[in-house]
Amino acid sequence: MSRLAVIRDDKFQDHLTPQMHPESPQRLAAIDEALRANKMDETLDHFRPRPATEDELARVHKDSYIEGLLDYEAQAKQGDKLVPIDADTWMSPETYAIAKLAAGAGLVGVDSIAGDHDSAFVAVRPPGHHALAGKAMGFCLFNNLAIAARYAQKKLGIERVMVIDWDVHHGNGTQDLFYKDPSVCFLSMHQFPFWPPNSGWYKDDGAGEGKGYNINVPLPAGTGDRGYLKAWDEIVSPICHEYKPQLIMVSAGYDAHRSDPLAMQNVSTSGFALMTQRVCELSKSTGAKVVCFLEGGYNAKALASSVLATMNVLNSPQPERVNAGEVLIDTKTNLLLPVTEDSEPLVVDDRVSELRHHFSQYWTSLK
Ligand SMILES: [Zn+2]
Repeated sequence: MSRLAVIRDDKFQDHLTPQMHPESPQRLAAIDEALRANKMDETLDHFRPRPATEDELARVHKDSYIEGLLDYEAQAKQGDKLVPIDADTWMSPETYAIAKLAAGAGLVGVDSIAGDHDSAFVAVRPPGHHALAGKAMGFCLFNNLAIAARYAQKKLGIERVMVIDWDVHHGNGTQDLFYKDPSVCFLSMHQFPFWPPNSGWYKDDGAGEGKGYNINVPLPAGTGDRGYLKAWDEIVSPICHEYKPQLIMVSAGYDAHRSDPLAMQNVSTSGFALMTQRVCELSKSTGAKVVCFLEGGYNAKALASSVLATMNVLNSPQPERVNAGEVLIDTKTNLLLPVTEDSEPLVVDDRVSELRHHFSQYWTSLK
């Protein structure tokens, strides 16, 4: 048995988007091809998803929204065509069924870590972290991670879920769904300012009982591996330790990669491996298992290599020493780390200090 469970299905490629749309079926095809080429389809445990039920969706999404999607589906099926929900987000005839399957894949991921696996990687599309309770946006229909978080809370009695969202875009949907809820601590690292507009500033830090449990880490364009790892070591890891999660969920988007066509964050494949190593360290020290959800990432080759780097680290008995696909990484000795530099390191350092100062009012580990 492998440490990591991978949840995947060829059916996810049946969700179609217009030609030239960045969120294309080729993304998962590239990951599948890379898994085969690296023989990881043989060494990892793979599970097929099941569709989420309407009740499971309705723990997060409004009934009226789910019914509205069925109207779009009827239009798409009637004309055998693609129907826009907005300029970015489209439905093809099979999209509704595939989106339910993507949401259900997260539930299979939770079931796998409730069993013997230490972690799960849910390789799905459409992605989820922009989806609101009553609105699709940013290529997302159902918030796959949020639906799985509610499922884990209900099924496993988990009281504290830590969500770490490293997609380059702010996870506005996930933020909104848990904004007043301390049982899910949401932390998003993202390029700022970026998309969605005016979304993800650090002063949006939760409300009511959830005050202080919504942590936005807005990073300037051009932040490379160095800046991301600094934010991890000075903000993400201390907060996660202090929160003591029983489950860690990662919105794993790979559009912060330096080859990504949509963003400018300059993170390398090794950078994603190093971030995953930090997730493994948190998992080890808190005892929380890990479920990763594929979000963005629009250079198919960079996406596939970064996803494999993440899977390699998660599946490694010694995550501090893994081959990330580019070089052998050893964080203990700092050998051979091809980390990218920030375009403006002082600006990044100032931002990290500013964030530490702000969140130290809620988290004593940052004082
Ligand atoms: Zn994204």
